[in-house]
Parts: sequence; C-alpha cells; structure tokens
Amino acid sequence: SKLRVGLLFGGRSGEHEVSISSARAIALALSTQQNANKYEILPFYIQKDGCWLAGEIPQKVLESGIPYLETQHQLDSNSKTQALLKRWQSPLQVAEVDVWFPVLHGPNGEDGTIQGLLTLMQVPFVGSGVLGSALGMDKIAMKMAFAQAGLPQVKYKGLTRAQVWSNPCVFPKLCDEIEATLGYPCFVKPANLGSSVGIAKVRSRQELENALDNAAGYDRRLIVEAGVVAREVECAVLGNDQTQASVVGEISFNSDFYDYETKYTQGKADLLIPAQLPDAISRQIQEMALQAFAAVDAAGLARVDFFYVEATGEILINEINTLPGFTATSMYPQLWADSGISFSELVDRLIQLAMERHSVGE
Ligand code: ADP
Ligand code: MG
Ligand code: MG
Repeated sequence: SKLRVGLLFGGRSGEHEVSISSARAIALALSTQQNANKYEILPFYIQKDGCWLAGEIPQKVLESGIPYLETQHQLDSNSKTQALLKRWQSPLQVAEVDVWFPVLHGPNGEDGTIQGLLTLMQVPFVGSGVLGSALGMDKIAMKMAFAQAGLPQVKYKGLTRAQVWSNPCVFPKLCDEIEATLGYPCFVKPANLGSSVGIAKVRSRQELENALDNAAGYDRRLIVEAGVVAREVECAVLGNDQTQASVVGEISFNSDFYDYETKYTQGKADLLIPAQLPDAISRQIQEMALQAFAAVDAAGLARVDFFYVEATGEILINEINTLPGFTATSMYPQLWADSGISFSELVDRLIQLAMERHSVGE
C-alpha cells in the first residue's frame, strides 16, 4: 500500500508564505505518476497563530497558495485549554501519517522544536533531527560547531539581549570591543532567524548601537560579524551518513547585501548554476559543505552557504540551512536538477532517507 506522507507547512515564522510555496512544489512533485504510485499526501497546515489544521482547508491552501486564518481559534485563545485542544483538533489524521515531511522555515520549524515533537511521536520525518536543526538555526552555536570542525569563517562575537539592554555602563564597552575586534562594516544579526530578517550592515558607532538594539528585539541571542567583500556561493547536500554534494551555485544581486527584499522580490537576484569557479575551488566548497553537514549532525538535506573572496582565493563558510527554500525556483532543488536529480526524484530520495534513518533507530 501507499506510504502516507504528512506534508507539514505554513507555521508561525515570518517565512509562512515561503513555506506554502515550498509545500506546493513538493505536493506537485509527489503527484507525478511515479511518486503517486508510492505516496499519498496528507496535508497539515499550521496557521500563523500556531493552530494545526488537517483535511480540506490545508488542501485548499496548497491549491490556492493563499494563507488561511480561522479567527475562531484566536477568540478561543483566552481559554488556554480550548486553544490547546483546537491546536490538536486533528489527532486522527495525525495518527494516519507514515512519514512526516516538515516544510517549515525558521523558528518553530527549522530549529528542532517540530523535530522534537515528531521524534516523540516515533514516526519518521524528512531532514535533520533535534540537534542538527537547533545547531543549524542558532548562528552562534553553528559557528562554534564549524570552528571545532576547522572550517574557516569570519570573525564574530556572540552577545545576549541582556548585555545589549540591561546596563548602560556595559553597553559602550561592548561597542568599543566590537569596533576594536571586528571593525566596520560589520553585520549585526539576531542569532535565530532566517531570510535576513533583523540583519543590518553597519558602518558607524551610531548604526551599530541602533542595529544591536533592533536585533535584540528579535532574539535573546545576537551575533556580530566582520563584513567581507565576497561572492556568495551555495552547495546542496543530500544523504544521512553517506552524503553527496551538488554542483555549486552562485547568487548575484546589485543590492548592498542579500537582504529580505533582494531575496523575495522577483528579478532582484539571479541564481547562476553552476557558478563560474575554478574546478579546485568548486571541489573545495563541496568538501567543506559535507564537513559542515557532519559538524552540526544534519540529516537528509541542507544547503550550505559560503563567501568566496575572489581576490585571495579564500572560502569562508557563512551558514547551513537545514530546511532550505524548496519552491520550484529555489536554489536547493535547482542545484540538484543541475547535478542530475530531478525535483520529483529528490523528494522521493528525501522520504526514503527519512525511512532509512528511522529504521536504523537514530
Ligand atoms: P540568513 O540566515 O537570514 O540568510 P545570513 O547570515 O546568511 O542570514 O546573512 C544574510 C546575508 O547578509 C548574506 O547572504 C550576505 O549577503 C549578508 N552577510 C551576512 N553576513 C555577512 C558578512 N559577515 N559579510 C558580508 N556579508 C554578510
Ligand atoms: Mg539562514
Ligand atoms: Mg543566508
């Protein structure tokens, strides 16, 4: 009989809409004849308020691509029990799932929280487990794991909101230290977000102070990084213990940096696949991508992003994304398409990897 795939999408993060687009593309790939013989889709939609819906509404959201919010849930949320029950109004459908495919980006989806829930349910799921997801989300923890693995990266400093907000005597010293060790321009980021949300490139003391204050509004943990002038290249990884790296792709854009607007406005950024790079550089990037994948204990899939400093030949790792964008035009599936694995084959492979990982009891 067919394997029932719980397609889990939407979510409470700022990347709700991207998640819907990714889920649509994956649902389409699961409907190709070859996959439709093997898999049946059970869509689960997490509303922006966190409520889970199963059945017809998720199906409609998948078809239309338009977010849905049943306000009834919000009205009920003064009653804690009511809200909790509403959140779990579909226990029967949940029990029918053979394998979960979380297509959730950012906090509450890519960070290990959903992965913890699915682990407790003891049902296989696509992608990294709790550790890999959490390490891949938190930029400070990620950088510590990369450093330990010997991967070169920019200079950085991890901070907490408390350091930025609490004591007015400490804050200037903190900024002095950042200026002395990292210099300008530097990048101020909330540690646990994606899509460039809350990130600022700063060039002066005033901008640094404002950016720290702003980023502290997004996250308890912050990171400041020395800025590099570099090409931005990305490599896709697929597998569990046996991993393979895709061809390398490049992102080209004219903005100051790859910010939210550049990422999500049609025509502001181009994907160049494969990137025009010397063979030795591409190979080195692929090797580093596999090392980064192992360093955070990722599984199934990840996209690893790098800075290539052309002038010096230096390759610096920027980050790993354990649930990268998965729309038809996203980098991750396109890198595999260029490497000889079609979108529908990719989705099939990911589900098989989830089954394999579960069966060996990881
Ligand atoms: P996100 O997880 O939100 O994608 P990133 O750390 O990848 O956050 O940063 C987003 C973008 O900001 C990068 O793609 C790059 O354009 C720019 N950027 C981030 N850090 C640096 C840095 N240290 N030097 C130069 N550019 C950077
Ligand atoms: Mg990211
Ligand atoms: Mg990024």
